[in-house]
Amino acid sequence: MPFIEHDPTDMNSFKAYLKQSKRILALCGAGLSASSGLATFRGAGGLWKTHDAMSLATPNAFVKDPSLVWQFYSARRQAAFSAKPNPAHLALAALAVKNSDFITVTQNVDGLSPRAGHPPLQLQPVHGSLSTIKCTSVFCNYIQYDNYDMALTPALAPAPERSSNDAEAAPANIPVSDLPHCPKCTTGLLRPGVVWFGESLPAHVLSEIDEWMEDGPIELCLVIGTTGMVWPAAGYIGQCKEKGARVAIINMEIDDDPMLGGVEYADWLFKGDCAQILPQILEPVIGTMDQVKELLGDTDHFPAPTFQGGPFTETTSKESQGTGYY
Ligand SMILES: [Zn+2]
Repeated sequence: MPFIEHDPTDMNSFKAYLKQSKRILALCGAGLSASSGLATFRGAGGLWKTHDAMSLATPNAFVKDPSLVWQFYSARRQAAFSAKPNPAHLALAALAVKNSDFITVTQNVDGLSPRAGHPPLQLQPVHGSLSTIKCTSVFCNYIQYDNYDMALTPALAPAPERSSNDAEAAPANIPVSDLPHCPKCTTGLLRPGVVWFGESLPAHVLSEIDEWMEDGPIELCLVIGTTGMVWPAAGYIGQCKEKGARVAIINMEIDDDPMLGGVEYADWLFKGDCAQILPQILEPVIGTMDQVKELLGDTDHFPAPTFQGGPFTETTSKESQGTGYY
């Protein structure tokens, strides 16, 4: 039953509801970063046009050809770290600063939300991050967070420094000894701290989201830049609705067919670039973008690197097998 009769594209009814909402969850996908100029995962360009990106994002691909996979991720790191957070990242970061009961669950690995100043305790990266690197040795527990180095080794330097004709060049055949190695055990190869196809989502992230879910009623679920049709997105929307939440979808593509998602469970549908829409619809809480920039500090927030030597927590999880992206 719809909670009020209204036009689902009406911003005013959304704004009125937002103002009285306390516990809010945002679920974010690739569309959040689109206007920052990042190609989507499947649309990786340049050097990688001839490669099936999905076939590179697996543990087997890394074992078989770590040079190729590291060059792919190095290119993705360089693109992500060169991009800038857009107004949508800033608007969500400001909402988090203003409302400590708001959390963002992001499927993005680009690090643009933390760089926008999103409080880390209110940001749950379910697919890991390109700025995390970790040791592949089963005997070692080395993890480094927030590593924004453009080149982890000289061999992985940005392509233009390696070749003046990078768009045409094939990936180089880099010897394993020239790939990033673990500073702790010294023998283990490092890998990107992202969730690959066939891997579990990080258990500690999932349990923190579950704890938040269980903490009380939820008023609002924002589905941003994702179709919301794949796990974990679909599951979280359902859980929020069970806790009483109204749902707003903000995306370039909104399917009008209820069977394909969207209209069926959404109270509001805002079709377009979330970098334009989010600052508008969140304004009753976050203020104008000038006020947002003043609140967050008008600078790029590259967090300082942190290290963790505890046991891996990524090895156990619930019904998440085979759902990894990136
Ligand atoms: Zn190691």
